[in-house]
Amino acid sequence: MPPPTPDHPDMPKGKAAADVQPAWIYTVPVRSLCEFSARRGDLDRRFTPSATALEGQQGQAAVTARRGTDYESEVALEGFHGPLRVRGRADGYDGRRRCLEEIKTLRVHADDIADNRRHLHWAQLETYGALFCRARGLTELDLALVYVDASTMSETVLRQRVSAADLEAAFCARCDLFLDWARQEAAHRTARDSGLAQLPFPPGEFRPGQRGLAEAVYRAAVNQRCLLAQAPTGIGKTIGTLFPLLRAMPNQKIDKIGYLTNKGSGRFTALDALTSLRDAMPGRALRVLVLASREQACEHPEKACHPDSCPLARGFHDRLPAARAEAVAAGWLDAPAQRQIALRHGICPYYLGQELLRWTDVVVGDVFHAFDPNGQLFGLAQALDWRIALLVDEAHNLVERARQMHSAALGLGQVRTALAGAPATLRPVLQRLLLEFNGMLEAQAGNDQAGDYQSFDSVPDSLSQALQTMNAALGDHLQRQPLTTGPLLNFYFEALRLQRAFDRFGPHSVFDIQRMEAVADARASGGAEATLSIRNVVPAPFLRPRFLACHSVTLFSATLGSQAYARDLLGLPEGSGWIDVAPPFPAEHLCVRVADDLSTRYPHRGATLDALVDLVARQYGEHPGNYLAFFSSFDYLEQAADRLAARHPALSLWRQSRAMGEAARQDFLARFVESGRGIGFAVLGGVFAEGVDLPGSRLIGAFITTLGLPPVTPVQAQFRLRLDALFGAGHGYADLVPGLQKVVQAAGRVLRTPQDRGWLWLMDDRYLRPEVARLLPTWWGVGVSQSPAPSTSPLTVSG
Ligand code: SF4
Repeated sequence: MPPPTPDHPDMPKGKAAADVQPAWIYTVPVRSLCEFSARRGDLDRRFTPSATALEGQQGQAAVTARRGTDYESEVALEGFHGPLRVRGRADGYDGRRRCLEEIKTLRVHADDIADNRRHLHWAQLETYGALFCRARGLTELDLALVYVDASTMSETVLRQRVSAADLEAAFCARCDLFLDWARQEAAHRTARDSGLAQLPFPPGEFRPGQRGLAEAVYRAAVNQRCLLAQAPTGIGKTIGTLFPLLRAMPNQKIDKIGYLTNKGSGRFTALDALTSLRDAMPGRALRVLVLASREQACEHPEKACHPDSCPLARGFHDRLPAARAEAVAAGWLDAPAQRQIALRHGICPYYLGQELLRWTDVVVGDVFHAFDPNGQLFGLAQALDWRIALLVDEAHNLVERARQMHSAALGLGQVRTALAGAPATLRPVLQRLLLEFNGMLEAQAGNDQAGDYQSFDSVPDSLSQALQTMNAALGDHLQRQPLTTGPLLNFYFEALRLQRAFDRFGPHSVFDIQRMEAVADARASGGAEATLSIRNVVPAPFLRPRFLACHSVTLFSATLGSQAYARDLLGLPEGSGWIDVAPPFPAEHLCVRVADDLSTRYPHRGATLDALVDLVARQYGEHPGNYLAFFSSFDYLEQAADRLAARHPALSLWRQSRAMGEAARQDFLARFVESGRGIGFAVLGGVFAEGVDLPGSRLIGAFITTLGLPPVTPVQAQFRLRLDALFGAGHGYADLVPGLQKVVQAAGRVLRTPQDRGWLWLMDDRYLRPEVARLLPTWWGVGVSQSPAPSTSPLTVSG
């Protein structure tokens, strides 16, 4: 449900217009009105198979096609009740039968729909009916709930004749239940917009470069565009993007801002910035919500989300109104605040957070919520017609995150395990899927060139049908015998995910089979292990419609790679802006050096290891302090650390290890004390290469002993081929651009404030190649004005 829209400016002007319709202060969609007024009782999230959006559209089209040419589809309706404007679209009106229809496509039998869900469907239809009778001047009307079977497209129709008077009475009762809430929401929106219109920049002054960034974000919001913003560390990106977007909120009628991160650590920075902005705002009428995952917010991870299992699901909807009222009054809804309020009212914190998403102004959460097919923020914004603006932090990670969201895989072992535990009714469909799977494996084995990996141009129809049939049968089974957790349910979810990926397969993705070393289970059942995958390579076709649907989206990072890379891979709409903000400190604060006679290529590593560690030791000896040294792999890291320890035993060093828990990570970082001395060894792209803040003398330099290129694997080769086919060769989209993004991220650990100074060693001769140098920040000066290497040193000084 949208926050209040005090939309008087849109009203018809003048006395005549005021006579036509009442002065309304709040607009509510029919669905929201009904959910608010009709939901009672327990929370019950027991799994029931649901139709996909595509199946929903197909169901609606099938019904419409059967009704005749005079059938009215998508009937727009609107009505008023005091200061409330209610609007929505009824699915269809059959004029010959004088029947208004609500069409629901199902993966379950109509008889199996839970009472509370059916009750909600009727509430919606009755509300549409009341608005329809008003609009057409009817005294009575037939209402029909049309349930369409997603597999067969057959209809189950529940029909009743209702008088307009009864519909009107029910409509008024629903609106009355909502009115107090609407009034306080409208008052909040007015206070919020008034406060934001006067919002001052909290620290008083912009940092260098921050103003330019803020102006660009503001312009993007006003022009309803997307913006790519590359801005170095130390500029204050979080507040520099939040401030202008909050200022744009009132005049752009933005309902919600989503501040989305790719890694969890950015959320704390966002909350700090929002705290200072909210404190600086007259009236502080800004609601901020942290949207957590179920894993983060669940109080009973061992239980399931229904009243027979979890006490916090019992009576959830009965106690929700009081909790919701307390939460919106509090306004600041980080995870601890949500938890406290939820437990005080005896309800689930996670589902309270889901509800509060409807009533908040700023949402802080993961990019998943906006860009995943199941993302709640985007889904609700579409359903409830919100105007949303997004800020995407650490946006250089979005390509990889979005690829994961649109990829899917299923293992042969998973199918075998499901078959072994399946009831007799499911065995034939699982066996058929297994047969198809094995057929793919045989095709792959018969290809001498393929080795353990093969990609295919298309998904065989027989495989796709076998998967679809199995999913339909499993869905029916789970409907009859509901599960809330367990391997069969997990298998079903992964199989459904693969089916959807099959349905959307195209040039943006690779379909492949990869045979793996036989695992114990597979050996026991006498078969090989292999995985069928749809791997998304270019998420642009999935993301672009989302960018277009938002009021504005700003993607920002210290390193977006090339502008073309971000546009091509993410699918930004034409007309999207670009800003590359200069660093907030003089370039000479970072002394960038290239070791141009060192090669860190895999075959050369043994030969250059002594020179590499000697160089590290020399830099340390000349400028003692804390350093980070980044390597392409743990193996390389270990070799270098051992060699440094052997050749320079007095030098203090500590290492990142493969399985580091939170405590070990903190210990690693704790060694970077003010004015400390030593070298931390870490892997590029790992937890210490991004989001680590060690200002001042806690870190004075970094050694980067790799270009960050991905290992050469069959999958990687396939990605390169696909990207070359789509965008032409020589762009570096498969390796160089993402590799150097990691390099720039890691280098960004050195200067954290405008006062910091430090050293950066790029330890590989390839850094001087033009195609590499052009992807590095220009202010590093690499490849621009190289000083000649001293005759006694293998080094080139470039900054
Ligand atoms: S507490 Fe956990 S198990 Fe209970 S309803 Fe909430 S998410 Fe589900």
